[in-house]
Amino acid sequence: MSLRKVFILILVVLFLGTLFTGCRSKTESSKLKVAVTIYPFYDAVKSIGGDLVDVFVIVLPGSSPHTYVLTPQDLQNLENVSVIFENNFGLEEFLKSVISSLTARVVNVSEPLKNVVELHNGNPHLWLNPEYFVIQSEVIKNTLVELDPIHKDVYEKNYENYKKAILNKAAELRQKLVNLPNRNVITFHDAFPYFAEYFGINILASIEPDPNKLPTPKQIIEIENLIKKYNVKVVFKEPQLSSDIYKSIVEDTHVKVLSLDPLGDGVKIKTYTDLIEYNVNTIYDALK
Ligand SMILES: [Zn+2]
Repeated sequence: MSLRKVFILILVVLFLGTLFTGCRSKTESSKLKVAVTIYPFYDAVKSIGGDLVDVFVIVLPGSSPHTYVLTPQDLQNLENVSVIFENNFGLEEFLKSVISSLTARVVNVSEPLKNVVELHNGNPHLWLNPEYFVIQSEVIKNTLVELDPIHKDVYEKNYENYKKAILNKAAELRQKLVNLPNRNVITFHDAFPYFAEYFGINILASIEPDPNKLPTPKQIIEIENLIKKYNVKVVFKEPQLSSDIYKSIVEDTHVKVLSLDPLGDGVKIKTYTDLIEYNVNTIYDALK
């Protein structure tokens, strides 16, 4: 082969290379761009949307939605998405001021559950009940189908598998807690009433019901009295909310402290089933 032919061959290979890269970036950009506010919804979008969807989570593991402030990077990311899935009912105060300036559609995944929220005085932590979480995931699925109807069958099938896996795992985990003699617990903030309802746990109180307000000395004394009266063995802290207020309770009552996680840490607790499994096992180990 002459030098000239080799040179042409190299050019052709390079040209084809750019063609293929071009194709790949085109597929990337044709993906549905989605944002979610909290980590459990990230798992839902990933599981239902798979490779068809590009998703980012606003409140990264380690942060709490109650205390979150949007970063300039968040604002830039939000400019590029077609849809934002939010839990709503007061969980995402950080979105309020920017929502009107965004072109993305904002979908309240808890819409079918608004009566449930009303019955619980507006408590937004619906996703911690697996039955409610699959309803929220169905809203996500329906929205993906609406925005990308060509792939309806994929979204439907993925959703059915996801739902089945979650409900099976949840039923199995609930069985684990059935025979515990003492199910009284005290949680850190008011995140677990829907979880408790599903798994048959009795939450006597929360140390800091509103994560933006420290409890008063009177409230602390009330909690200590509950611990003594109901023979409570454990109080729970949470990784996203760092107040040390529980320490004085521990000093006074010698109760155990363990950590419940309402959101997932992205390392050991990645999927929704990881999340409920972690919390059920933590409670089981504390109360058995
Ligand atoms: Zn919360």
